[in-house]
Amino acid sequence: MKILVINCGSSSLKYQLIDMENEDVLAKGLVERIGIEGSRIKHETTGKDKKVIETPMQDHKKALELVMDSLTNEEYGAIASLDEIGAVGHRVVHGGEDFADSVIIDEKVLKAIEDNVEIAPLHNPPNIMGIKACEKLLPNVKEVAVFDTAFHQTMPAKSYIYALPYEYYEKYKVRRYGFHGTSHKYITNRAADMLGKDVNEVNLITCHLGNGSSICAVENGKSKDTSMGFTPLEGLAMGTRSGDLDPAILPFIMEKENLDPEEINNVINKKSGVLGISGISSDFRDLESAAEEGNERAKLALDIFEKRVRGYIGNYMTQLDHVDAIVFTAGVGENSIEMRESICKDLKIFGIEVDKERNNVRGEEKVISSDNSKIKVLVIPTNEELMIARDTEELVEK
Ligand code: AMP
Repeated sequence: MKILVINCGSSSLKYQLIDMENEDVLAKGLVERIGIEGSRIKHETTGKDKKVIETPMQDHKKALELVMDSLTNEEYGAIASLDEIGAVGHRVVHGGEDFADSVIIDEKVLKAIEDNVEIAPLHNPPNIMGIKACEKLLPNVKEVAVFDTAFHQTMPAKSYIYALPYEYYEKYKVRRYGFHGTSHKYITNRAADMLGKDVNEVNLITCHLGNGSSICAVENGKSKDTSMGFTPLEGLAMGTRSGDLDPAILPFIMEKENLDPEEINNVINKKSGVLGISGISSDFRDLESAAEEGNERAKLALDIFEKRVRGYIGNYMTQLDHVDAIVFTAGVGENSIEMRESICKDLKIFGIEVDKERNNVRGEEKVISSDNSKIKVLVIPTNEELMIARDTEELVEK
């Protein structure tokens, strides 16, 4: 079966067409600037030249029409007709408490995703647009929703309830949901394979470190705690997001700088994190170069990032009765040799030891701990699209 995986952002759309027979990516692409001047699609069919088309796209439906045209184009397409698409898997950011797993989309499911817009106002609306556009363009094809939050629905109440008046949870669903669930789930499955263990018996600390970052405590293959919260803002210091901070800072700054709720939200989401600390960049490669050249604030940003990752690893160590492996994934986790080394250097208290030679790796599945290390350390490139395609195939074939 060939599965089209769709990931809609507010003005962008990423897609992959995957042949599930051998899990090969047949084609992939990115549509940018949807609804903004200068919209374009970058399409690539495996084994053929990349194609970039600039053309106005006023909405996600128009963008998806262009995706379908590109996939079936005689010269640079991957399939002869849309009939070859067996199912569509959508990344949906927020499933709230309604979804602990992926589901086939019907009217009831769509309504529940729409109901969760209140707690995911930035993320769910573009996902809904993508689902509705696909319904129109591929009316006979089943669509599946794969939620970023679903993997974390196994967390116990002591992990997800905030120390706020309990009524806010009851009235407004204010609780920890956690995100990057599709990535943490993929990593958990791959780590179990690498360790030669059944996934239901594996205990891990999975570190998804990218532009957005989160850590997850996995017990018997299930999420027990995670660093992102009610929104993807909590936890680690990220590219531009603040992560954890004293909540009293917010009303203080709002008053001092005369900011309204939307403006302060913009500050903690877009102007903080390693960008805010360094004043240079949200990109870890830029920060590593600047720190090497002696920039103190770039170094401070990296030190703060590293200290928080270590802090969460330490926290989750205390929540698991044993840990089979610590796993690094995503842009920074897969590629930054220096960051992995500095995080693990100070985990010696847990008997963790990374082998310098083995750690000299980027973007490859590998055990990087030494033979003496009490806990294995792994690098596993994440693959959210494949996880979405696998879930989609499983549900559609049932
Ligand atoms: P992601 O959000 O997973 O795509 O990760 C993006 C982040 O990964 C960016 O901050 C990049 O700077 C970082 N990254 C990618 N490659 C490297 C590398 N070789 N060394 C350090 N950071 C990297």
